[in-house]
Amino acid sequence: MSDDCLFCKLIRGEIPSKMVFEDDRVCAFHDINPIAPTHILVIPKKHITTIACVRPEDADLMGHLILKANQIAAEQGLKENGFRYVVNTGEDGGQSVFHMHLHILGGRKLNWPPG
Ligand code: 5GP
Ligand code: ZN
Repeated sequence: MSDDCLFCKLIRGEIPSKMVFEDDRVCAFHDINPIAPTHILVIPKKHITTIACVRPEDADLMGHLILKANQIAAEQGLKENGFRYVVNTGEDGGQSVFHMHLHILGGRKLNWPPG
């Protein structure tokens, strides 16, 4: 946990959010500024700054996060038409909140390549 991290505050309930899933290791909530009909962020409760900072001891946590993201995407009805996972990493990667998060984007046709 990090005192001044936005997503750590959200996990602690100090910032309101629309949670769609939570367990002891991960949580998922609707993005405050959605860019697709479904836009959910899945995060580890452990404060990990970027996905590039994941350590060997986080391997199980990362597997758990992906399994839960898959479950959420299915529950949101995204499996049939497909969806996109995005993990912006660092400044050039477009990361704005430095607590790693997996974007689930779906509900419309998404363009490729990204800008
Ligand atoms: P990044 O740009 O770091 O990949 O993504 C950060 C995401 O967090 C953005 O899509 C942004 O809209 C979202 N976000 C920023 N502040 C909040 C907040 O207070 N609550 C929620 N639910 N999402 C937020
Ligand atoms: Zn954090």
